[in-house]
Amino acid sequence: MKLCDHHLHSEFSDDSETKLTDIAEQALYLGMSEICITDHHDIDYPKDEEGHTFLLDTSRYISAVRKLQEQYKDKLTIRLGVELGLMSHIADKIIAYTDKYHDFDFIIGSSHLVYGKDPYYPAYYEGRSEKEALLEYFESILANVQTFDNYSIYGHLDYAVRYCPSGEAAFRFSDYGDVFEAILKTIIEHGKGIEINTGSLYKNMTYAHPHPEILKLYKELGGEIITIGSDAHVPKYIGYDFETYARDILTATGFHYYCTFEQMKPVFHKL
Ligand SMILES: [Zn+2]
Ligand SMILES: [Zn+2]
Repeated sequence: MKLCDHHLHSEFSDDSETKLTDIAEQALYLGMSEICITDHHDIDYPKDEEGHTFLLDTSRYISAVRKLQEQYKDKLTIRLGVELGLMSHIADKIIAYTDKYHDFDFIIGSSHLVYGKDPYYPAYYEGRSEKEALLEYFESILANVQTFDNYSIYGHLDYAVRYCPSGEAAFRFSDYGDVFEAILKTIIEHGKGIEINTGSLYKNMTYAHPHPEILKLYKELGGEIITIGSDAHVPKYIGYDFETYARDILTATGFHYYCTFEQMKPVFHKL
């Protein structure tokens, strides 16, 4: 059985122009039986140079995904998800959002911003070492997992590594072992999970998020809930390296199952 993609962006995300039907067609072409669309919603994202706000027109999005589900109901299971930016200092606004919309099957909690600053831009790393910048990123994730309960899995845990000026060479797992232990223990205790995000592999990194040592620690601490996502913003990256990387690293780390989500509950599938 082909691994199912649970991290996909369409034209409802500010940074994608992909039609929902093109995602469904590509998933069918790849032989997937189930996918989950997870468009961006980042509250308080500072408008960038291209005018992106990363706010999802949620009502229109939900209607469009419902229509897609109906259209493909005999061929492909399509779940309704969202990639929700988490920031502990605006927890009230973020919790109000998920209190308002109960429709989601799956919510990826992600850190695209650190207290409003965007690690995508070089300015985030200026005036300090990359180690300090990354530590702040990871500590903000710890604050988020201690604050929020309204998500299914935490997305791309070490996302900021992708944008470090010296790339993945800037990251040494041993520098952040304690923080990751605290993050992962909290995620497990709260019944949440993490994802393998292969997006980094088509962005010139040699491993998928999270780093294999983080994945290993998650397993050692008793973590079981794990989804697989390509983070594709264009159809060609859907399912990227799932069968050639994700399956292998999960199996090598000792996982026997991966998850999809339905109505916010994990469904386990044998690897
Ligand atoms: Zn993301
Ligand atoms: Zn994403």
